[in-house]
Amino acid sequence: MKRLAVIGDPVGHSLSPLIHMTWIDALGLDASYESIRVPAGETAAALDDFEHQEFLGLNVTLPHKQAVLPKASEKSAAVDAIGAANTLSRLPSGGWRADNTDAPGLIAALGRLGLSEFTGKTVLMLGAGGAARAGLFALDRAGADIILLNRTVEKAEQILAECCSRPHLSGPLDALSDHAGRANLVINTTSAGHGGAHIPLPAGEGRLFYDMSYGAPAEAQLAHANAQGWKTEDGLGMLVCQAAESFSIWFDGVRPDIEVALTACRTSLEQNA
Ligand code: NDP
Repeated sequence: MKRLAVIGDPVGHSLSPLIHMTWIDALGLDASYESIRVPAGETAAALDDFEHQEFLGLNVTLPHKQAVLPKASEKSAAVDAIGAANTLSRLPSGGWRADNTDAPGLIAALGRLGLSEFTGKTVLMLGAGGAARAGLFALDRAGADIILLNRTVEKAEQILAECCSRPHLSGPLDALSDHAGRANLVINTTSAGHGGAHIPLPAGEGRLFYDMSYGAPAEAQLAHANAQGWKTEDGLGMLVCQAAESFSIWFDGVRPDIEVALTACRTSLEQNA
């Protein structure tokens, strides 16, 4: 039996077990996927333990996305640039390989919405935390021109310098209306919705507002964006697409069914609302 898990703290709310078990069951694989609470500060000891227990791979969520890096004997180029990993695979020679599937997950999710060409397109990204880092890396490499706005401007400048290969613009979040007019797409990576707040938006005129949040934290923001005339989408597609990238790494390139996992997630969120 191949053992897989997501580690984090808190981790009980994670949809990853549902997503991966949906695929494992559908494909009849001899594998299991569980969620395991690992408190901050215990990352290295936990990884040694999981290696001993011969886990095939792990997904990594907060607060471990950076803390796992010292234990990775191999890292993808994306992990180096983003400075965080969300997927670990146990190496046959011992130790772990670290990948970041949030970046290709975002591109795949946007592709499902018909957005696959980014060269010459302007993307307005809101927020400069961990999720923004993967998004910046992905969109920069995909050829987009990015305007990154954050409440704390210095953080935006810093992550642009760290994650991007080309210069882009940054500014304060309250300058959103000044920049929104030239954006082909707006991506919200802030966690404002978790505190019940939303970012005020100007008129969208049918353009896409993509919110990386999903479930209750996304509701007020998406309702506001809709009311302002934006086409909206929550971050569930990205969540499932990044999971599919991890699954493919662990199961030798198998591409699981995105739609079936998306439906399972939406049903679960509705039942727990
Ligand atoms: P972080 O805590 O790393 O970053 C939070 C960001 O939000 C910071 O830029 C912060 O600004 C900003 N922010 C927080 N509160 C407010 C507010 N009230 N007004 C304006 N800005 C605010 O979070 P993450 O980057 O890890 O996660 C962000 C969101 O993305 C979460 O909802 C998370 O669930 C989601 N996510 C979704 C994924 C998916 O697959 N769909 C993957 C990863 C994350 P400042 O720097 O000024 O503090």
